[in-house]
Amino acid sequence: MNLTITGYSTALFSTWYFVEELGILFDAGEGLTAALLQKSRKVSHVFISHADRDHLTGLLQFNQLNARKGFPIIYFPKHSGSFPALEQFSKKFDPHVSATIWNPVSEETPIWIRDNIFVAPIRNGHVPAAKETIKSLGYKVIQTKKKLKPELLHLGGAEIKKIIEEQGEANTYVEHRTNLLSYSGDTPVEDPARWDHSGILIHEATFLDTGEKQTVHTHGNKHSRLEEVMEMVSGIHIQKLVLGHFSSRYSPEQIDRRINELCDKYAINIPVYRLLPGETVRDILAGKTVN
Ligand SMILES: [Zn+2]
Repeated sequence: MNLTITGYSTALFSTWYFVEELGILFDAGEGLTAALLQKSRKVSHVFISHADRDHLTGLLQFNQLNARKGFPIIYFPKHSGSFPALEQFSKKFDPHVSATIWNPVSEETPIWIRDNIFVAPIRNGHVPAAKETIKSLGYKVIQTKKKLKPELLHLGGAEIKKIIEEQGEANTYVEHRTNLLSYSGDTPVEDPARWDHSGILIHEATFLDTGEKQTVHTHGNKHSRLEEVMEMVSGIHIQKLVLGHFSSRYSPEQIDRRINELCDKYAINIPVYRLLPGETVRDILAGKTVN
């Protein structure tokens, strides 16, 4: 499946990614409706990673413009108090917009957005919290496909139909799962296995260098360094990498140079795309790669 992804992601200011074919929005930082215009009406499912303001302040206007019966559905980390507060405020502030559904989610909740596609929330350690407390999530988009069991492949349609009738679908098909897209949200680099076999990985890379102080603007919340991300990527199988959430302290040249150095260092040959600070990038994957 070809995905048209448009986004903006600069640490501290705003982050959002719109996946057109899936009608999905990951995060909702400000500026999203101003950039997407009528296309923002194509969004049905909004997955918010955490309650930092640069990831959610676009919701008010988005909601006001786009709410329709049963949609949009806004999914957010189960224990973030900001979202119920925003829901209440939004309903009071814009009483004509009551259709929006606000849905708290945790790792146990697969969210089906189509018959064969679901989104799986992945807990991460961006916001320090007790283990059972869900305050920060990444998301994986998984496509499922029923495939005939290998031992039945030689059979004709009528015979297969008979087996389904006699033994049920579960004994006729196996389910294959394909990870179309993963979105890290804000997160330190943690368990690389969670992103393995992603078709596309959108990962944050707030800081370029390992040595510098990282306390600025993070309020104690944890972020990724570019080198850790690239090292992780070199150890797993993904097809395309999109890097975002860079700190605005870096120039475009610094960012691109560092990405290229690290592609060399870790022998990364997959296409790597990036969202530079302050830039809205339309159809990211149709653009030029950095490496
Ligand atoms: Zn952020």
